[in-house]
Amino acid sequence: SDPENTALSHAPALSHAKLEWRDNGQPVSSQYNDIYFSTESGLEETFHTFIKPNRLPERFSRLNTGECISIAETGFGTGLNFLCVWQLFDELATDGSRLHFISTEKHPLKQDDFQRALTLWPELKKQASELAGLYLPACQGQQHFVFANGRVRLTLLTGDVLDTLSDFSGKVDAWFLDGFAPSKNPDMWRSELFDIMAHKSHSQTTYATFTAARIVRDHLIRSGFSVEKVPAFGKKRDMLRGQFLRSTPASAVRPEWQLPDAPVTKRQQAVVIGGGLAGTSTARSLAERGWQVTLLEQHEQLAKEASGNPQGILYAKLSPHHTPLSRFILQGYLYSINLMNQLQGSHSPYWHQTSVVQMPVTDKEFNRYKSLAEQFPENLLFMADSEQLATLTGFKLNRSGLVFPKAGWVKPAHFCQSLADHPAIQTETGHSVEALKKEGSEWVLLNKQQEEIIRSEVVVVAGGVHSHQFPELEHLPVKPIRGQLSQVAETTSSSRLSVCLCCEGYIAPACDHEHTLGATFDFNDDCLSVRKEDHQRNLDMLSSQMPEVYAALGKTSSNYVSDYRPEVTGGRTGFRCTTPDYLPLVGPVVNRSSFIKQFALLRKDAKALIDGKADYLEGLYVNTGHGSRGLITCPLSGEIIASMISGDSNVVEHSLLDALNPTRFLIRNLIKKNI
Ligand code: SAM
Repeated sequence: SDPENTALSHAPALSHAKLEWRDNGQPVSSQYNDIYFSTESGLEETFHTFIKPNRLPERFSRLNTGECISIAETGFGTGLNFLCVWQLFDELATDGSRLHFISTEKHPLKQDDFQRALTLWPELKKQASELAGLYLPACQGQQHFVFANGRVRLTLLTGDVLDTLSDFSGKVDAWFLDGFAPSKNPDMWRSELFDIMAHKSHSQTTYATFTAARIVRDHLIRSGFSVEKVPAFGKKRDMLRGQFLRSTPASAVRPEWQLPDAPVTKRQQAVVIGGGLAGTSTARSLAERGWQVTLLEQHEQLAKEASGNPQGILYAKLSPHHTPLSRFILQGYLYSINLMNQLQGSHSPYWHQTSVVQMPVTDKEFNRYKSLAEQFPENLLFMADSEQLATLTGFKLNRSGLVFPKAGWVKPAHFCQSLADHPAIQTETGHSVEALKKEGSEWVLLNKQQEEIIRSEVVVVAGGVHSHQFPELEHLPVKPIRGQLSQVAETTSSSRLSVCLCCEGYIAPACDHEHTLGATFDFNDDCLSVRKEDHQRNLDMLSSQMPEVYAALGKTSSNYVSDYRPEVTGGRTGFRCTTPDYLPLVGPVVNRSSFIKQFALLRKDAKALIDGKADYLEGLYVNTGHGSRGLITCPLSGEIIASMISGDSNVVEHSLLDALNPTRFLIRNLIKKNI
């Protein structure tokens, strides 16, 4: 379906696990009246029930460099299975190979329950403490975690297994069929689950499950799996294991949305054009998957354009409706926070988790915020009334606001630098790519003099507003929107601002004795210089929306001296690269003219089924159109592109891949008969 037409619905509410704790410290589900793991030894049970029958020890030690094994589980629970697999992978897997663990969970444990459960496994302390530090079950949908410099990835699909797994885009090498006993949880063990499994399996895919229930055995056989009964762990009698016996069925994705297979290359070598957030994120995700990346930047330093603001606020503008944009923002927001928390370790602090407050301007916005606060857990966001907000911010703002306690501000250029700081990334600045030329299987990148800069079979264009200067990408509808921010001097009074405040504009806590405030928003304005009148607009916005904060920026500390104006110390102009539906363009690039010819029937019949895949420009990908949300959307988009190029299971669901697909505008225009 066209993601643009996705019906609006509320984000499905998250239902946490309800637990009772036994005297021996083990959790029991009150919802299902069943245990999470064996009371004898959870660790040995995992090895016996899931790891050994899926032959993971041999498979891990036989992985080639660059290869990724993907394991999917029904029922993440306490994460015990994942942690055991991660530990074994650390011990046995070859250097340069990777693990992608995908797990589904309908009732995620609350954070404190999760922490408590993990204390049961001192043997897994190293992995468990890393996971516990990042775990934040915030919403239904997908969440992504990266560990061990990208060697281990976890995708948590929150919601009912049948909904989440069917939208998961990728192949699975081994299944862990966990979940409570079929007699206690018949809803999970429905035939649809086995159909979905078959769809995501290939001829080498194995599975294992703790149960030998008749119904499970029958479903497995009907869906094309072999079934072998083997002794179960502990007091249980039998369990099942087996392999997928059929070849993979045809893709269920409509041809116009089908993505190309991963490029077949001689070497794992790629070029990324653009050293902003999109480019550095893509380079990082590729490097972590074993690719040698050349990162080309036209300026003498990274992050000199839209990603070069002195302070960037992690501002997740969510909708209470479950739109693709809102889902993507939420996933990206959580992913960026995790990534920055991990990367910052080795760099001087550039990420400040101060929390961010969004204050409504209109009644409509107020209602939207209220609705969000009702849908999401408090550790993600909550509504604070004016009194609470005054306590939290130290300023009388006389309004309520939506607080994002995990958000904050970052120095975007430092973040870009830390992303590019990887031994497999070679950064080349001062190279402006003016044209692309295909020679055999390679793209040749040319400078202004039409001389070759470099050649590569895989190229990712992440050049922001410059991306569609290339004829191959000219059809992408990106538009620059000018924005100017102002820097104002910190005062004694303003130094107590410790959170980021967002309204129509924003102000961040001081960094190097300056606050950043902004930003203007102008279509059809290509003026590069910093304008005095735009500083005035930013100051006017602040004085009308947050008068007390404005007053604190005056040169005296008195709130009554309105004559004392904030001292503007600097400013910056940038161009946000936007798209008509505000979602970025992330994915492979098609040959426009042959695509239009091949899919011409869509003009007559939007549902027409056309044979064959689209004609993709092999090896060419794009990652742009992030508007002013690059901090939130670029890192996850880098993961998406890198997993497409590496042929890994993808990191976001099918429906989001469609919503981000750069070809979506050609498809919509054909359907609307605009082309
Ligand atoms: N693998 C887990 C571990 O390592 O801790 C233990 C899993 S526990 C036995 C079963 C899990 O399946 C529970 O966390 C439960 O909430 C989850 N579950 C049950 N029904 C589900 C469904 N329909 N979709 C997704 N998860 C489900």
